[in-house]
Formats: sequence, C-alpha cells, structure tokens
Amino acid sequence: MAHIAFFNFPAVGHVNPTLGVVEELVKRGHRVTCTSTEYFVPAIKAVGATPIVYESPFGEFYHSPFNEEMMAGEGVRCLDEAIALHKQVSQYYGDDRPDVIVHDFMAWGARFYASEHQIPVVRLFPSYGVSETFNIAQKFPWSAPDDPKILEMVERLVGLLPTFGLPADMGAFVTDVAELGIVFLPREFHYEGDSFDERFVFAGPSISDRSAFQGSWQPKSDRPVLLISLGTAATGWPEFFSLAIKAFADSEWDVVMAVGDHIDPAELGEVPANFEVARHVPQLDVLRHARVFLTHAGMNSTMESLYHGVPMVAVPQMNEQRANALRVEELGLGRHLPREDTDVATLRAAVDAVAADRSVTERVSAMRDSMRAVDGPTLAADTVEKRLAAKD
Ligand code: UDP
Repeated sequence: MAHIAFFNFPAVGHVNPTLGVVEELVKRGHRVTCTSTEYFVPAIKAVGATPIVYESPFGEFYHSPFNEEMMAGEGVRCLDEAIALHKQVSQYYGDDRPDVIVHDFMAWGARFYASEHQIPVVRLFPSYGVSETFNIAQKFPWSAPDDPKILEMVERLVGLLPTFGLPADMGAFVTDVAELGIVFLPREFHYEGDSFDERFVFAGPSISDRSAFQGSWQPKSDRPVLLISLGTAATGWPEFFSLAIKAFADSEWDVVMAVGDHIDPAELGEVPANFEVARHVPQLDVLRHARVFLTHAGMNSTMESLYHGVPMVAVPQMNEQRANALRVEELGLGRHLPREDTDVATLRAAVDAVAADRSVTERVSAMRDSMRAVDGPTLAADTVEKRLAAKD
C-alpha cells in the first residue's frame, strides 16, 4: 500500500472537502498523512490519517480579509504560508518520501516539495478549477494585478521557483495544470464547466460524517428550520446577525444561527425564543432539516446546501462568494441579495420568496439528485490511485 500525503491549505472550507477522500483512502489500506495546524488535528484523526502538525503564519486557520486593499496583501501571506509549509514538512518527511502528493491548489508549498523530489501530484480544488483557459480570479478579480503588494509577491515567488526546479515564470506557475485535478463541485454548477478536459474529475462535495469532531444536531420542533451563517473565514459584517434577529424574531421559523469566531453570541443581547445561536453548528446536520439557508455562499456551504436539497438566499461579501451567489441565482437555485441591499425587510422578503418558490425547490431537488448520483469520495480516491498506478 502507498504513502499518500495530503498538503492542505489551513482553512475550514479547504480541509472539509478532503476528509471524505482521506477516509476512503485509509479504508483502502493506504497510509495517509495530512498537513495540519493544531485546529484540524481532531478532524484528521477522525478519518484515520496522521496529522503532520506545523505552524502556519495564518495561526489556527485562515481568516480572509475584507476589502480590496487588504486582499492585495493576501498573495504575500499565501507565499509566506507556502514557505513555512515547505520548510516544516521537509523536516518531517526527511527520507520518508510520499508516493504521491494530493494538494490543495493554494498549498503552493506542496508544489515546491513535489518538484524538488519529483513526486507525482493530484491537485484539489475545493472551489472552481483552474485551467489554462479558466481562472475565477479573472472573471471576478479580487485585487488589481499591478497593486504593489501583488508585484512584491510575484517578484519573491519568481525568485524562489528555480530553487525548487520550477521555471521562473509566474504565468506558467498560475496556469500550470496538474496531470490530474479533483474539483469538489458538480460540472453543471461550475462556470464554463464543459471547458475542463479529462485531466479534471468533478467529484462534487464529497461529504463525510463530522459528528466525531463536531457533535450533532436535531430539530426541536416540526416548524420549518432556517439556517443562517456567514461561514468561518469572513470577519467584516457583525451587524448582519442583529439584522437577522430583527428580521426573523418571533416568526414561523425555527432559526439556527452560527455567528463564527468573531462575535461573542452574548453581544447579541437577548435572543428570541425561536432562535438558537452558537459560534459554530454541525452544519450538515442542520441542513438535513433546513427549509432555507441564508448563507454567505462560500463554496462548501453552497455545495452542502444543494446536496441536502436546500434553496439559498445568498448574501456574499467576497469576490468568489459573489460568483457563487450569481451562479445560484442564474441556475434558479435561490436568490442573491447584495450586501448593500440587505436590511430587515429585504432579508425577510428574500427568505419568504425562496421558501414559497416551487420552481426553485424543483431545480434544487434536481441538482441534489444529480449530485447524489456521484460518490465523490470513491471517485476522488480512484483518481488518486490512478495517479499512483501511472507512476509505477
Ligand atoms: N461550518 C460548520 N459549522 C458552522 C460554520 C461552518 O460546520 O457553524 C462548515 C461548513 O459546513 C463548511 C465550512 O465550514 O464545510 C465553511 O466553508 P465555506 O466554503 O462555506 O465558507 P468559508 O468558511 O470558507 O468562508
């Protein structure tokens, strides 16, 4: 059996979709190691892999900045993360080299290490795939390409690449397509999905049981459940939760609201009786019972909602979430409510409209059925084994 090394990007939305695949590979008898900050150790152990714990410049896990100006600095932070990952992982593995590296597309440290030691890779896309012709950042740019911070990152990266045996060419680094890539989306949700050739496998969300590290959740009544969350990464819109309380207090909804790490639920004051507020909730369990998801439209939340047949009201903040929200609306799977239009009345109206719209329900059900026809973890594990077999 092989030694398979997952190189993760330390963000909840990047690690979660890998867990089902790791679990499947462990079940098949492989030895699987996964890079991990302390925060992800319980999740990685729960699926039977060995965490390779390292210190990330992001801390426990990645929190995204909020405006365009801060976003420009992200390239430098991601490069520092890659350097830290490469250095610490190199020390850990020593001569115990993996047979194949399965890496998040943002874990550049994996590309440094794999090139240095000539190890085959499979690339993971927890959100949109990147090919020679498609990059979501071109459709929905998050910062100006000539921002001084971007230029600083490019200069440093291009200087480093040859030390790992990679060409000193930023364009080539960005558009390089691994021999095999796994996209955790269904092709029909992906923008320009048909432009991706046989090097890309569309595995869908590859959901796995998280109860061992997240606990579980059951509804308290038979009233309709509304899930509200802005995900784990974004920090910049605390007022949203007070608006949501005003919009749905004492309504017909049983509301489950996850406020994340950046707000103390106590700050929200007295919470109406039909609300359950926590920093984090077992999202998959809640979605199993939810009627509508009021979401920031992070890619995992979007996929998990569709996988459970739950229509969405999408209130995005960052460029990629905006891309997802627009796609949700374009495919008739829910509504996009722009942040600047969000108030108590529009929140209420959007949720009511989506809940009442039978055509949305039908399209979401059809998407759920087509997603459930694909066994993501099996397909993704087969892809990793295919890469291993090609190596021999
Ligand atoms: N999540 C969760 N409980 C919460 C909030 C989030 O389990 O209270 C999970 C959610 O199921 C998803 C991930 O965290 O798998 C969030 O990823 P997403 O891409 O939606 O958003 P991000 O947090 O990266 O912005």
